[in-house]
Amino acid sequence: MATYDLLLKGAVVVDPVGRVDGPLDVGIAGGRVAEVGPGLPGSAAAEVIDLTGHVLMPGVIDTHTHIQGPAMRMMARAGVCTALEMADFRSLLAEFAARGCGLNVAGLQAIGPWAAETPGRAEVAGLIDEATAAGAIGIKMIGGHRPSTPAATELMIDAANRAKAYVAFHVGSTETGSHLRGLLEAIELAGDNSLHIAHVNSYLRGMIKDPAAEVLEGLAAIEGKSNLVSESYLAVINGTGGAVGPDGLPASHVTRNCLRMRGYSADEAGLEQAIRDGYGLVHTEEGGVTVPVTGPAGADIWRARGTQVMMSFPVNQPQATFLCAVRKDGAGRFTVDAISTDGGSIPRNVTVEYGLSLVRYQALSLREFVWKASAAGALMLGLKDKGHLGPGADADVTVLDLARGKAVMTIVGGRVVMANGVIYGTGGTIITTPRGEANVRASGLGCKVVHPEEMLLYTKRRSWPRMPA
Ligand SMILES: [Zn+2]
Repeated sequence: MATYDLLLKGAVVVDPVGRVDGPLDVGIAGGRVAEVGPGLPGSAAAEVIDLTGHVLMPGVIDTHTHIQGPAMRMMARAGVCTALEMADFRSLLAEFAARGCGLNVAGLQAIGPWAAETPGRAEVAGLIDEATAAGAIGIKMIGGHRPSTPAATELMIDAANRAKAYVAFHVGSTETGSHLRGLLEAIELAGDNSLHIAHVNSYLRGMIKDPAAEVLEGLAAIEGKSNLVSESYLAVINGTGGAVGPDGLPASHVTRNCLRMRGYSADEAGLEQAIRDGYGLVHTEEGGVTVPVTGPAGADIWRARGTQVMMSFPVNQPQATFLCAVRKDGAGRFTVDAISTDGGSIPRNVTVEYGLSLVRYQALSLREFVWKASAAGALMLGLKDKGHLGPGADADVTVLDLARGKAVMTIVGGRVVMANGVIYGTGGTIITTPRGEANVRASGLGCKVVHPEEMLLYTKRRSWPRMPA
């Protein structure tokens, strides 16, 4: 009988947690890493894949995604093994059944908004309980798109902390918005509670002050705060909704912001003009992936769908993208914990592609890239068996082609789910808490149980991990 089910030979293995960085083989058995070492014998393996000339890292963990339609295919192609879905846990089981590619996904459920009155504490606690019983690891507040009052926002954060549920926030309340002031307000509203600040880069677009000044102020506000965890993404485009409400205004406040930023009126006519001019990109699905379409063709799609489309605008500032990705505090800890995408079905799953550009420019070392794209996500989700390739770790692996700057193979639990752009994976695993375990198991999908009290959100105050030297 073979010692390994699968032997990955000849790649340069980069695992900052295990302090491994060199040409080594990885032996996999029972879905787990059995051994990492030089010259492991091919004769001991049921299957051998020669990865000479490639880099092998613990699987990419994307801590901010949106999983609808073609999302999982797009993520698997981008080297993502594990993801946190950030808005709609309820649709995840159906998405897996229809288009699972073998990935691991944890989910948050959006609650709110309360734009006028403050809900009762029992009501909010009930919604959190319902979401976590369904299998979500916690809640998301979508303030930037659909704001709640500051009081309601503060209550949601507090109730999630009391329930020891995960809580993430796209900043902005009825008093602020999805920008620097919203970010500073979010930190205030969190107080001593723990909070995941979603996509930090996206609040630093120069809406309040000069973009460079905003970046420094925003990052200084987060730095050193052990009750906050955060991620940022690298793409130039954002993701938002194109829907126009009965009042003739874009339903999403983020879409309104994007229009104002370029001098368009923040209404239906302004949105149509922005699409016609090539500024607004309308998402449509073609060949199993999301394709952004702009100009008159984009406007036609937007109209034909009654404005019910997802959209992007190229609004992210390079200063914010860059500094959120690379900045460290005086103790050598990254100011923003992880690199995410806010991708999935939004066509910007570029952690590997753009992240390797940062490596090429020496803004991050390859080990630092692996830390931010994998190890940090494992800490954030309390996944002790992921984010590294130590013996017994889950055999989740992303194989990189540095010359082409992309992921060429995605392996989850020892199974190849993507190779050279072709998807082989099916089904998948939902990451949930003990509270949601029964419901997830009943779905027939894989189930991995994590414990909120072991997630960086709640452990960071006790111990703030840093990449080993
Ligand atoms: Zn998002």
